Amino acid sequence: MINPHETDIRLLKGIGDAKAKQLLRLGVLTVWDLLTYFPVRFENRTHISKIFDLSHDTISCINGIVISAPEEHYVRKGLTYYKVPVRDDTGIATCIFFNNKYIKDYLKKGYEYSFYGKVSIRGNKKEILSPEFEPSSQSQCTKCIVPIYPLTNGITQKFLRKTISEAYSAYSPYFKDFLPPKILQEYSLCSIDYSIKNIHFPSDLKALEIAKKRLVFEEFFILQTTLRKIKSAGKSISGFTFRDTDLSPFLSSLPFKLTNAQTRVMEEITKDISSPYVMNRLVQGDVGSGKTMIAAASIYMCTKNGYQAAMMAPTEVLARQHYNDLSPILSKFGINSALLTGNTSLKQRKDIYAKLKSGDIHAVFGTHALITDKVEFSKLALAITDEQHRFGVRQRMQLSEKGVGVHTLVMTATPIPRTLALILYGDLDISVIDELPPGRQKIDTYCVGEDMRQRMYSFIRKEIEKGNRCYVVCPSVEESEDSSLKSVEQHHTFLSQKVFPDIPMGIVHGKMRANDKEKSMTDFVDGNTKILVSTTVIEVGVNVPQATLMIIENAERFGLSQLHQLRGRVGRGTQKSYCILLCSSFSEETKERMKIMTQSNDGFKISETDLKLRGPGDFFGTRQHGELHFKIADLANDFSVLKDSGVAAEKLLKADPYLSSEENFYIREATNRLSEKLTL
Ligand code: ADP
Ligand code: MG
Repeated sequence: MINPHETDIRLLKGIGDAKAKQLLRLGVLTVWDLLTYFPVRFENRTHISKIFDLSHDTISCINGIVISAPEEHYVRKGLTYYKVPVRDDTGIATCIFFNNKYIKDYLKKGYEYSFYGKVSIRGNKKEILSPEFEPSSQSQCTKCIVPIYPLTNGITQKFLRKTISEAYSAYSPYFKDFLPPKILQEYSLCSIDYSIKNIHFPSDLKALEIAKKRLVFEEFFILQTTLRKIKSAGKSISGFTFRDTDLSPFLSSLPFKLTNAQTRVMEEITKDISSPYVMNRLVQGDVGSGKTMIAAASIYMCTKNGYQAAMMAPTEVLARQHYNDLSPILSKFGINSALLTGNTSLKQRKDIYAKLKSGDIHAVFGTHALITDKVEFSKLALAITDEQHRFGVRQRMQLSEKGVGVHTLVMTATPIPRTLALILYGDLDISVIDELPPGRQKIDTYCVGEDMRQRMYSFIRKEIEKGNRCYVVCPSVEESEDSSLKSVEQHHTFLSQKVFPDIPMGIVHGKMRANDKEKSMTDFVDGNTKILVSTTVIEVGVNVPQATLMIIENAERFGLSQLHQLRGRVGRGTQKSYCILLCSSFSEETKERMKIMTQSNDGFKISETDLKLRGPGDFFGTRQHGELHFKIADLANDFSVLKDSGVAAEKLLKADPYLSSEENFYIREATNRLSEKLTL
């Protein structure tokens, strides 16, 4: 049977090896790939102008009869142009073509064509420069809404239009609809045939919208069905079963009691790891909610059962902090731990490799260094990834793949509203720590304008004189081309020379060498510097209890969740802490967003509001791009379709968990294909 999904593009008329190679650069291998190579935008060329009405410097479409055969004009070597006079019932215009000797073959005297191009009027002479044209009986590039595709060398718009149109005519009888009729009906979606036709060659804007809606729905629907299937499949992969799950010795060694939320999350984890199947769990908790203890308790349980555990963090500072905090607690129970990062000396590294392989090290903390080939475990059973949003799924899996049947725990401090978390992390079980340890004080947050800058500097000085430390965060260095933004380097120079020449000050940003970054961080942690000027690189997990003041420059530029994360860097000690959001402009939206920051310290509430105010765009950095790559859907704009398709996916899997029914055959195929891609 003919299947456009599996038909090589070279079976299309006029496509040989050379063209196929060029198309491959666009990711087009099969006929279906070509048919789903979607336009990035459209040009509405439906309006036909009369020659009389043409105005200078517009792009217009006309119908015209060729008055006389194209006439060649030689300018100099390499520059020849052709003039073709055309008329309609209101006047005459001249089409001009440069270096196109074939024009004589295409445009014949006495025939009518449609032209589309830029109009130039000099005196009473009307010219259309290098227009696109076609016989007026056709409407592929004129008189219609024309698709514009992203191109590559050797591939032109005209070629794509023609080839896609031919592919559609030849293969549309063989299209299969992934979506069962029931879903099409319930969500008023058009057929696949209609949508492919109209996404490329829409008869009007309404048709385009209808076509697009269906394709977006389909894309989200298949993604969400796939994620949910991966999740339920995970529930049948056997994993290490931890039999001894008594946490009480560990818990009683801590100087505090777990919060109710931590206890609940530990119960969820315990349930997972004492089952015969692997755990795939995401722990979401606001900054300071105590995720590290969840990791520690899980590591304790794992090693107590005779297995090894690994915990990966995105930065050296953070990995070291985890190691420093947890290894003393774990060693009380005879658990040997180690720290492995890019900076670990070769000698130490070799020793760690050997001991991980022999099983003498029970728990290892580290950075990406943990997923290099050299690292082998004797029996890894638990892989923890902290600040998951800084890693891709691939890296997370690489750690788990250091063993077979390894339980995976990922942690994130980015509070994602539940609706979104279900979509983004549909393949994971989710635990939420929605409570902070007792005694945490509210971080007083103020939003100010430039007029308060001097007072703010006095405030910084007062805090430093009390023995406290201060962060000053600027938008990232890359953005510094925009002169209205505070660049971290300039600002550091300014503050250290003009404002606080007497106060030791450090700088840290993403463009620095890893070692220098590390040194800056350590200096601040140790108190050698009192003010740290930085970009958002400090956002992740660092703990400096003496830091009581967070200044954020150009606060209006940051997402609310990010502001909240940054603010979470202070208020970690016993001293009263403050956050000052300095805005350099105040739109209505900025005012509203800053108001939430000053009123609430609750990350989930803040993220819900951000979602309402700005849509989900800001959240999608949290699951890396390439990973969730959409052909047509746009997460930020198509949010309601995203929700609908989530509900539909849920319903479908409830009714047919294995997608084994006849009508779900094609969805099953599509989800299998995607899940291979996602987990490969
Ligand atoms: P995060 O969730 O941001 O990773 P951490 O795990 O770093 O937060 O915890 C922040 C601080 O709170 C740490 O100093 C930790 O020791 C402390 N902490 C964690 N759990 C509790 C608790 N139940 N009671 C009191 N303090 C706690
Ligand atoms: Mg943390």
